[in-house]
Amino acid sequence: MKAIVTGISGQDGYFLSQLLLSKGYEVHGILRRNSSMSQGTIDLLPLDVRKDIIIHYGDITDENFLSKILKEEKPDELYHLAAQSFVGYSFENAQSTYDVNIGGTLNVCNAIRSSSPDTRMYFAATSELFGKPIETPQNEKTPFLPRSPYAISKLAGLWTVRTYRDAYKLFMSNGILFNHESEVRGPEFVTRKISMGVARLHQGLTEPLILGNLSAVKDWGYAKDYVEGMWKMLQYDIPDDFVMGTGESHTVRDFVDEAFSVVGMNVKWIGTGVNEVGLSDEEKVLVKVSRDLYRPLESDNYRADYTKAREKLGWEPRVKFKELVRLMVESDIKALNSQ
Ligand code: NDP
Ligand code: GDP
Repeated sequence: MKAIVTGISGQDGYFLSQLLLSKGYEVHGILRRNSSMSQGTIDLLPLDVRKDIIIHYGDITDENFLSKILKEEKPDELYHLAAQSFVGYSFENAQSTYDVNIGGTLNVCNAIRSSSPDTRMYFAATSELFGKPIETPQNEKTPFLPRSPYAISKLAGLWTVRTYRDAYKLFMSNGILFNHESEVRGPEFVTRKISMGVARLHQGLTEPLILGNLSAVKDWGYAKDYVEGMWKMLQYDIPDDFVMGTGESHTVRDFVDEAFSVVGMNVKWIGTGVNEVGLSDEEKVLVKVSRDLYRPLESDNYRADYTKAREKLGWEPRVKFKELVRLMVESDIKALNSQ
């Protein structure tokens, strides 16, 4: 079996490429060139894994490039993960978010349609489509009410996939995945920002963690579990859309509490809103809030109802909240210790 992964240098690409190689796939990755020629999370893979990935340099906004690759490789599966994936950035850079996430997804769909119609495609949609959901928990029937340029771009992607699937009878599936994190999550995302900050404070560094909305409620799982779900979607009999999450809700504040508890520290919260601070038992300021880190619109109250994925695909998240926080904090402590 042969698979192409767009966005292979991101968090999910790191876990998916390992999963596919372990299943005996020939794995091809699409990678954007950058001036330092660094390869993102591919650089973090063990050498014996990295050497087996075939890299094609190119950008998903280039349809000719994608058509050529699809024509040449005719993969059995394509996992379309590449995106401008940071919600906060999308408010400042809506145009480029739309260009990559909408234009890029259209290009991938067109390239499959014209050059490799037997390829099965996975599209990385998101729980952000739910915005401020009108029901809890959320499943495939919950209305989409996007509240950021990122979410709008992913909604366009999801509908492009649905339309191509129905109009041209292509095997294209949408994963409506809730937040999933890991030890290789980008440092701008709140979970990794917290795990790295707690590791630094544990090492005796004194700068407090500065965060935005501590009350946002998310459903956080472990990325390694979710890439297995992506793979299962493409092994299913028919193309379809699936929600995947843990079914647990936690606030950003809960994540901070749990992360400090991993290093044996307690956080005492005082104040509210932008005046809230988290103090140690010795009254040292561990966490502060900055208005600048609030988003113009928040999307939260997330909790996944992944019944369909469980019943149809046999998918189940293995790592839940506490274990996720522990593995992220311990990994960042280990990284600091080895510097
Ligand atoms: P990352 O941000 O870690 O990875 C995104 C990848 O896309 C990177 O490899 C990036 O390359 C690549 N990319 C961005 N723009 C382009 C472009 N124009 N051409 C080629 N490659 C490009 O995201 P994740 O791995 O966390 O997520 C994977 C997908 O799943 C994304 O589409 C994301 O939106 C979606 N998703 C993620 C969730 C999560 O919680 N992680 C939840 C739901 C959906 P580079 O290294 O050069 O920047
Ligand atoms: P997202 O859910 O894909 O937007 O993932 P993020 O990790 O970027 O954000 C998760 C939640 O954390 C959002 O509700 C943010 O508003 C909230 N948040 C609070 N403080 C911060 C922060 O300092 N950085 C980020 N990235 N998010 C924060």
